[in-house]
Formats: sequence, structure tokens, C-alpha cells
Amino acid sequence: MLRVYALHCGSLEFDRSLFFPASAQGVRIATPVSSYLIVHPQGKVLFDTGIHCDALTDPAGRLGKRVASLFGLRSRAGEDVVSQLATLGIGPHDIRYVVNSHFHFDHCGCNASFTRATFLLQRAELLAARTERNRYNPKDWDHPLDYREIDGEHDVFGDGVLVLLPTPGHTPGHQSLWIRLDAGTQFVLTADACYTQEHLEKTILPGAVHDAAQMTQSLAMLRGLRDRQGVKLLYGHDAGQWDAMPHAPHPFI
Ligand SMILES: [Zn+2]
Ligand SMILES: [Zn+2]
Repeated sequence: MLRVYALHCGSLEFDRSLFFPASAQGVRIATPVSSYLIVHPQGKVLFDTGIHCDALTDPAGRLGKRVASLFGLRSRAGEDVVSQLATLGIGPHDIRYVVNSHFHFDHCGCNASFTRATFLLQRAELLAARTERNRYNPKDWDHPLDYREIDGEHDVFGDGVLVLLPTPGHTPGHQSLWIRLDAGTQFVLTADACYTQEHLEKTILPGAVHDAAQMTQSLAMLRGLRDRQGVKLLYGHDAGQWDAMPHAPHPFI
């Protein structure tokens, strides 16, 4: 029996034009930061680790001046991945695998807490983080952790239930997670391959794009899964969708 929990890891406030480049500047929006816990019979899997707590008390020190000037962190105490897991009676050492969608600060900020986990990353993302150090924050990801480099699709437990799905474009090695309970119950955690439903419907690319053609292709692939296979997409930063979902400690599935 699979259980999936949506973990609320705070929210970010920023100018709408970062998400929707055609939008006029000066309109602030807030979006959720999320992680997901999947309890599989063969082990617990965490998808993304949110933002580090230090960003609340010292944003520029933790995130860097540029990121801290663009994003306001609107999180309350307890809205971080370790505290959210604790509400389920789960500690960092109980996590077998961490899947990072990519290495932006709101997706891997608490990686260092998961010292016993194996991290599943696309090879291209690790390479980009190691070579383009100004684009990624080493404080988030550059720790002596067990990073396993994956090339392309990867079936986490070999039973077809949890499959890493490359969705490059936002970053070089972005990946999403396909959860397949049965033919009629399938989800993809898109992370930043698709911020919101509006990005999907209108094929809107955000300001943060590594490769526009790749990102457009990834959006088309996700849309195809939804339209042809009935897969439900859980977007990376869609406030409306997020607010309508049950969050931990209540299971989503
Ligand atoms: Zn991102
Ligand atoms: Zn993000």
C-alpha cells in the first residue's frame, strides 16, 4: 500500500513577472514551496527538501543577496521539511531515497539533513551545479551526501510505481516524479518543469529558463501524459491547486 503526503514547506512572495514574463512589473504574488513524502513498502522516498530554515532569519546570508532581493520568504515556524516529517513521526534518518527535482534553493535547501539517504539526481543537474557555481548555491547541495547520478528515466524500486521522469529545460537536469498506482491512478509531481496550470495551458515559459526549446518540449510531454493517459499533474508552485489538496499529517493518497 502506497501513501503519499504533501508537505507544506512555507511560501515565497515575489514579482509576478518572474513567473509570467508578459505580466507588468509591480504585482506581488505568493506561491507555496512543497515537498512530498512517498511511503513505499520498500522504503520512504522524499521528493525535494524545500528551503533551509536559516533563510527565515538571515535571507541574504543563506540565499545570497540577489535571490534574497527577489524572493521574500513567508514561512512560519514548522514550515520546513524536517518539521513536517516530524508531524508524521518520521526523522531524516528514516528516509531511504531523496529525489531532488533540481538544485534551486527552494527544492534542495535541506539536503544536508538527510545524511543516511541516497539522493537520486540527473547527471546533467549535478554537472551543472558543479560547473556553474554562480547559478546554484553550494550551501544547499554541496555536502558529503550519497549522490547517485541517473541518466534519463529511472524506476526507483523496479516495480513501476515510482519513476523518475527527465523534464529538462528549466535547468539542464530537471526531473519530475511519476507515481503509478494503477492505470487509473497516476500522478506526476512536476516541480519547476511546470509552475502552475496556467503555464501548462498557455505554454508560458517563466523567467528562469535554461533552454526554452527543451522546456517547451517538457511541457508538451507533461500535457500529453495528462491528456492521453489521464495522469494528474501536481504543479510545482500552483497556489490554487496546493490550497485545495490535503497536507501532512493527512495523506494525499
Ligand atoms: Zn527552479
Ligand atoms: Zn521552485
